Amino acid sequence: MSQDIRNRLWIGNAWADAASGATFETINPATGETITTVAEGDAPDIDRAVDAARAALANPDWKAISPHKRAQLLWKLADAIEANVDELARLETQDNGKPFFESKYADLGLVVEVYRYFAGLADKVHGATIPVKGAFLNYTLREPVGVVGCITPWNFPLSMASWKVAPALAMGNAVVLKPAEQTPLTALRLGELAAEVGFPEGVLNVVPGFGQTAGAALVRHPGVDAIAFTGSTEVGKTVMRDAAETLKKVSLELGGKSPNVVFADADLKAAVKGATGGIFYGKGEVCAAGSRVLVERSIYDEFVDAFARSAERMVVGDPMDKGTRIGAIVSEKQLDRVMGYVEAGKAEGARLVTGGERTTVDGKGNFVTATVFADVDVDMKIAQEEIFGPVAAVIPFDDMDDAIKKANQTIYGLAAGVWTRDIGKAHRMAAEIKAGTVWVNTYNQYDAASPFGGFKQSGFGRDLGSESALEKYTQVKSVWVALDR
Ligand code: ADP
Repeated sequence: MSQDIRNRLWIGNAWADAASGATFETINPATGETITTVAEGDAPDIDRAVDAARAALANPDWKAISPHKRAQLLWKLADAIEANVDELARLETQDNGKPFFESKYADLGLVVEVYRYFAGLADKVHGATIPVKGAFLNYTLREPVGVVGCITPWNFPLSMASWKVAPALAMGNAVVLKPAEQTPLTALRLGELAAEVGFPEGVLNVVPGFGQTAGAALVRHPGVDAIAFTGSTEVGKTVMRDAAETLKKVSLELGGKSPNVVFADADLKAAVKGATGGIFYGKGEVCAAGSRVLVERSIYDEFVDAFARSAERMVVGDPMDKGTRIGAIVSEKQLDRVMGYVEAGKAEGARLVTGGERTTVDGKGNFVTATVFADVDVDMKIAQEEIFGPVAAVIPFDDMDDAIKKANQTIYGLAAGVWTRDIGKAHRMAAEIKAGTVWVNTYNQYDAASPFGGFKQSGFGRDLGSESALEKYTQVKSVWVALDR
């Protein structure tokens, strides 16, 4: 157990124990060992954090800070994250089980980009003057929403936190962040780094704890003005219900069962690679994972063969090894869930082409091999429910109409991929698929400037991009001034 891992509540730029004194263990899923024990926040701690955030909103050091200075602080935070990238990536890998190179180059790379992007936006937010009837000057102001409660999942811990924290701070809000109980460590270090670069106390507070206690207390708190949530569709519904009591502004980025559609005219090698990365990147613990691979019947057998071989090359191993492509599943509970779906797939008559084996590395940890099911029917459980693991369901289709129908045959609508050399087909698919993101001849592309979020039961509201920041983290005030008296 390392001494320098931050493991207490971060409130008002200071470390604190939970009011109850309770702690919980955070476990390295690759070894089963306890990394550290973490202060377990609950309602009284959320109260303290919200008080600190409200005080920050009233503090001239934050309330009256120039947008330019706010931009500088965000930029400095990006620099500080970059300067500590190895430490943060190691923490992320220890907590989550993902390969270190993914943590360092993909997760942390985007985190830094996100703070810089929103630093750039901080001093470019303004209202409008509106030509109204009568002798009036009418103008709008874009004001911060207030205290934003951010609740984040365990799959991309610092990334998901940053997608919310960076724009919320850029727009002048104060934040209470409740990271997932499985992966609280990088968020705590983020709070400390923010203080080190000069964010005033209470602007960013981090309260680790469990969903039904700390999370629910944050959602219900009357002093919180908005909730930005990323997590499961099931919990998203609870969050929306709980937030209704105080009519908070809510945004929800939820689950997915994204189709990755491969047409016969696609570059097959690229499509196989894209389908492999689409589902196995991040162990499939990715809300946008291309978990349903729809393949045109004329290339179906050839594709399934090539895809299975590609899956077999996804090396399961120690997340700290360079050669590892699939790290440890985040928790034993999650691995049980994944294995339950493997059994369900078999029981429903899908053909297990490769993988589906629970395993260990050096006799330890929660691992499973890259799994491909073929001959999957769209109605099967493994084609309808989000598994959140490295399990692909391959489904054949007949033509474009059939592909559109099957792609949309889901309650979700987070993302989709399309593989074709026919530009008309690509754009028609992009128009017809009901999802917040469509990737053509690529998959899993993200950029701080491009909005990301769901249609249907994948939620509403967008992360990233400038419009999303304005919509989620500001509110518009209309000011009328009489000119004739
Ligand atoms: P996942 O399936 O990714 O674990 P969850 O939706 O269970 O997603 O968790 C996402 C986040 O929501 C976590 O930070 C978790 O603690 C939190 N959470 C879980 N239940 C609730 C709840 N009832 N109210 C608020 N937050 C919750």
